[in-house]
Amino acid sequence: MVPSSPDIEVRPRIVPRPQHNLSRKNISVEALKVLYRLHYSGYKAYLVGGSVRDLLLGRKPKDFDVATDARPGEVRKLFRNSRIIGRRFRLVQVFFRGGKIVEVSTFRSRSEFEEEPQASPASRHNTFGTPAEDAQRRDLTINGLFYNIADFSLIDYVGGLEDLRRRVIRVIGDPGVRFVRDPMRMLRVLRHAARTGFTIDAATWEELTAKRHLIRLCAPARIRDELVRDFKSGSARPFFALMFESGLFYAILPHWEGRLGKQGEERLLELFSRIDLLITQERPVSETLLWAAFLLPYLETEPPSEELKDLREFYRVKGREALGLVEFPRQRGDEVAQTLALARRLAALLREQRPVPARMTRLAAFPEALRLNQLLEAPEKELLEAFSQPEPKLPPIARKRRQRRFKKRRPRRPKPQ
Ligand code: ATP
Ligand code: MG
Repeated sequence: MVPSSPDIEVRPRIVPRPQHNLSRKNISVEALKVLYRLHYSGYKAYLVGGSVRDLLLGRKPKDFDVATDARPGEVRKLFRNSRIIGRRFRLVQVFFRGGKIVEVSTFRSRSEFEEEPQASPASRHNTFGTPAEDAQRRDLTINGLFYNIADFSLIDYVGGLEDLRRRVIRVIGDPGVRFVRDPMRMLRVLRHAARTGFTIDAATWEELTAKRHLIRLCAPARIRDELVRDFKSGSARPFFALMFESGLFYAILPHWEGRLGKQGEERLLELFSRIDLLITQERPVSETLLWAAFLLPYLETEPPSEELKDLREFYRVKGREALGLVEFPRQRGDEVAQTLALARRLAALLREQRPVPARMTRLAAFPEALRLNQLLEAPEKELLEAFSQPEPKLPPIARKRRQRRFKKRRPRRPKPQ
């Protein structure tokens, strides 16, 4: 059993270097520099979170996070090129050449998103903790592992190594309690299950489906930002499949329920399986395009009336309606609406093999609209090829100009002297 409180068990499982396969070779030189400097200055220095998980899975981590018992001010002093960020939870960003950043946080007793109503303003800030507490405050057992630079060992307070071995996604502590404290953890469970292909532990799944409606207590902007991370994860299809299966999707967007139907769900999964292909093959996909693709299955349930002159306005209004609580900033909404409207006009022209007017190609949303059409229409092999071009290209037929008929010029009359 995973201990639910740090008081129950504080003795971690320690796996010495010869017994695990996490090699320094795969840690970025910048993260190693930070770890070593903290270590030689007498502090504890652990690699933590997603990077340890990814390295143990043989994957390339997106970023390397470090945890230490040095206070933010002390860390700041050790690294000239660093700054302290965060108001409630201060952490240090250390900057390196090439825009690389290593984040260093002091061991904490509480997650930054947990609200404790009883907490006094003073205690809110005073949340530094022990390594054991820092492991316990994390979300999933596989995200709660530490790699200790002092002796290259792994430190496991939460049973994460066993869960990695058994390929299980499990919340640290009591899942019911942890979801109430921060409902976003439910989405994180599905994210990591989708990315790893691991099985979700039965108690975690049961609590997730029972408490899914709590997700609406999270700040809309946070939900939106987390969703975008999943759009771009390369595992969006399995993620949305789990979102539908657990009902978390409709807990976030209740009015999609009953409207999307099995067909709409399939449509969304299919679109994101294409997006996953592009992302995993490292083709650039803009956020506007991702949102347009996300909204399409909902919007397609109500075809725009032909009388509607302003298709863009239709998509703007319907897009806002679709997102409800999660509504995005106005400018992004406008971009997405323009892209959807233009893509629809463009699709009609291409279908009828009519040339695309030059003024249309000059619109700001044109490249994204063309990309959206490629995403919707192109066969898989051509999709990768199309997204490899720095600028999206129109198919040849649409580029062909109509033959210009030149009027015969009349000879100029000589100006009267
Ligand atoms: P990714 O590969 O997407 O970066 P990650 O596991 O590193 O995955 P982050 O969002 O970068 O995820 O968070 C870093 C670490 O912080 C996590 O590994 C986890 O230990 C912890 N964490 C993040 N969000 C929460 C949360 N809501 N509650 C508790 N711990 C969290
Ligand atoms: Mg991370």
